[in-house]
Amino acid sequence: MKYGNKRSLLQISGIFIVFTIVGANVVLAVDAVAKQHRPFPDKIYSVVEKAYRQFHEYPELGNVEFQTCDYIQESLIQAGFTQIIELPNLLTAVIAVWDTGREGPTIGLRSEMDARPTQEPAHHDPCSKINGVMHNCGHDIHAAILLGTAHAIANDDSAFRGKIVFVFQPAEEVRGGADDIVACGILKELGIQALFAQHVAPGTPVGRWNISPGAVMAGSNYFNITLKGQGSHAADPSAGSDLPLVAARLVETLSSIPARSLDILNQPMVMSVTQISTGEHSALNVIPTQVTLGGTIRAFYDLDSPGENGKSARDVIMQAIKGVAATYDVEIDFELRKATPPTQNHNELFDLIIPQLQSAMAPGALKVTHGRGMFSEDFAYYTPHHPCLYFSLGVMKGEKGKNGVHTPEFDVHPDTLPQGLLFLWTLAKIASNSDLSVIHITE
Ligand SMILES: [Zn+2]
Ligand SMILES: [Zn+2]
Repeated sequence: MKYGNKRSLLQISGIFIVFTIVGANVVLAVDAVAKQHRPFPDKIYSVVEKAYRQFHEYPELGNVEFQTCDYIQESLIQAGFTQIIELPNLLTAVIAVWDTGREGPTIGLRSEMDARPTQEPAHHDPCSKINGVMHNCGHDIHAAILLGTAHAIANDDSAFRGKIVFVFQPAEEVRGGADDIVACGILKELGIQALFAQHVAPGTPVGRWNISPGAVMAGSNYFNITLKGQGSHAADPSAGSDLPLVAARLVETLSSIPARSLDILNQPMVMSVTQISTGEHSALNVIPTQVTLGGTIRAFYDLDSPGENGKSARDVIMQAIKGVAATYDVEIDFELRKATPPTQNHNELFDLIIPQLQSAMAPGALKVTHGRGMFSEDFAYYTPHHPCLYFSLGVMKGEKGKNGVHTPEFDVHPDTLPQGLLFLWTLAKIASNSDLSVIHITE
């Protein structure tokens, strides 16, 4: 991959250097600026708008965000960043450190960068110029806002303390990304005391943010089931195991586990079968000897953690599967792969930051809700290791911002950009002036 002006980068492979200049503490005045409409110089807004158009028109899939990575690096260098960290195993990640030179905490702001394999409708503006690839999860917006925040802070950091780490993370939509960044240990080495992110929320108005305490998004798990039995002619099903019928029974059994075999309040879970296959070469008059099923399980807890009766969700699933196997006298093999853990908003950090943020913003702009979702998000990988907060960003205004993420119709109102910039800047300012030494995390 090409990097822009490598001479001005602090090149680090595994080991890094952080310059610390201890300066005078800044006593922050009441946040008047956050209540203004366009409090930043015009050049900051044009950074955000240009970056958004660039990322949206040239979307790149996970782990190959090379052009996006180059653009971000070059822009950060132009803004005056000198600490940009290269990670040998994450070629498209950009992690940049802004040191205010004043004593204070180290906070992190994270965005994603990757797009998805979707054809964008031609009438969109801006519109993807890459066939079959589109930013329809808002990662272009997140990255543009984060880049703008970096420029705004580099332009004037007098309201900030400590260090602000900008984490442009690749591969949220595919494997790698957040888990790889956590695994390489860079955020621990940098001493990140709190990490923040916002994600577009279709249907939520521009100028509104939502946040919930505790576990806000489920962990994802994936399963494969193989049924093996006696095949037969389709005209004579009693001569064999009739595996398609067993598979149908199994789908019913598995789908009813969350509401009937688990405590729905204390062990909420969704188990969905998404694939059933009898093999590619089956004739229509042959009952096969093998059927495979696959799907996903979403839950806010580890499937191996015991419930109040001592049984884990995995135990309950296995018991149900064995029951079907015994009833129909077939062989059933169950494989479970744990993927993203649940996304946890850190309660102490929540209590410290959210009231300050609410009073700095327009009344009602930041709503505390108790909404949770069974969707999952790889920001979850950070949450067991760093105190984190994950916000929903309103994108709807007029006819824009109504359609769901991952759909070809997904779009956002352009006013999301300045609003998201002001929000992230305000959040960073509050966090960088807070005493984060009182925040703890148990790993
Ligand atoms: Zn997505
Ligand atoms: Zn996303």
